[in-house]
Amino acid sequence: KKQFVLYFQPKVQLLDNNIIGVEALVRWLHPVEGLLGPNMFIDIIEQSMFVHEFTRYVLLNAIIQCRTWLDSGIELPIAVNISPYNLMDSDLVSFISDLLVHYKVPASLIEIELTENASMVNIEKTQEVFTQLKKLGVKLSIDDFGTGMSSLSYIKHLDVDYIKIDRSFIIDVVTDKKDEAVISSLLVLCKKLNKLTIAEGVETIEQANKLTNLGCDLAQGYLYSKPLPVEEITKLLIARKRNNSR
Ligand code: C2E
Ligand code: CA
Ligand code: CA
Repeated sequence: KKQFVLYFQPKVQLLDNNIIGVEALVRWLHPVEGLLGPNMFIDIIEQSMFVHEFTRYVLLNAIIQCRTWLDSGIELPIAVNISPYNLMDSDLVSFISDLLVHYKVPASLIEIELTENASMVNIEKTQEVFTQLKKLGVKLSIDDFGTGMSSLSYIKHLDVDYIKIDRSFIIDVVTDKKDEAVISSLLVLCKKLNKLTIAEGVETIEQANKLTNLGCDLAQGYLYSKPLPVEEITKLLIARKRNNSR
């Protein structure tokens, strides 16, 4: 019924606060319950037979949005979350490839975020699909990094572009020396492995400053913007563009 809509949250460069991309976060515009966040329904979808169809719907809408923005002079990468179960969708890569061709969207403007958690299918399968996606030219991220059981194995075996450091490490980064130690070591590791780092859930200027000083590349969080409906994010992007060209 097209009741799922995408909201978009900016990803910014810590050094200059420039928006370098957005993450698409799904919402359910429920006719009776109102606007529902993914925590209310993602688990149910992931355990249902609709998980492939759902992700394809999100990908389709993200790629169409990319095209719409390109047509109005905004060239901005969109990240889409996929569920580990989607790695079993044997036509996923050709589905994405066909959409990119059809909508004439450069593959480098689409990013796939895969969460690193205990339920993840085996690493060989992930590697296989990621290799195909990489060949297409789409960007890859490991989401919620540090929350799963095999983070170091993933960072070693998967050829991803971005590592998204889970919010649980960011919350107390200013006050908790242990969180600071974990993050700063992780940043060193990512730099050595040539991966860009994104801090998730940055809410205060103190966290942002700390992360900048530790050498983190990018950030996402309420400090910059909540996830916004398309009209609002587009306004924000246009305003930024105007300011930058001044
Ligand atoms: P995620 O991928 O880790 O997305 C980040 C979540 O953190 C989003 O919640 C976002 O609104 C929230 N967030 C961002 N900045 C802040 C902050 O500064 N403070 C706090 N407290 N939270 C912040 P949201 O939109 O409720 O999404 C929850 C999860 O649902 C996502 O976590 C993702 O795993 C999943 N999800 C969302 N959209 C999709 C989708 O299209 N497909 C799939 N498979 N999963 C999705
Ligand atoms: Ca994500
Ligand atoms: Ca995340």
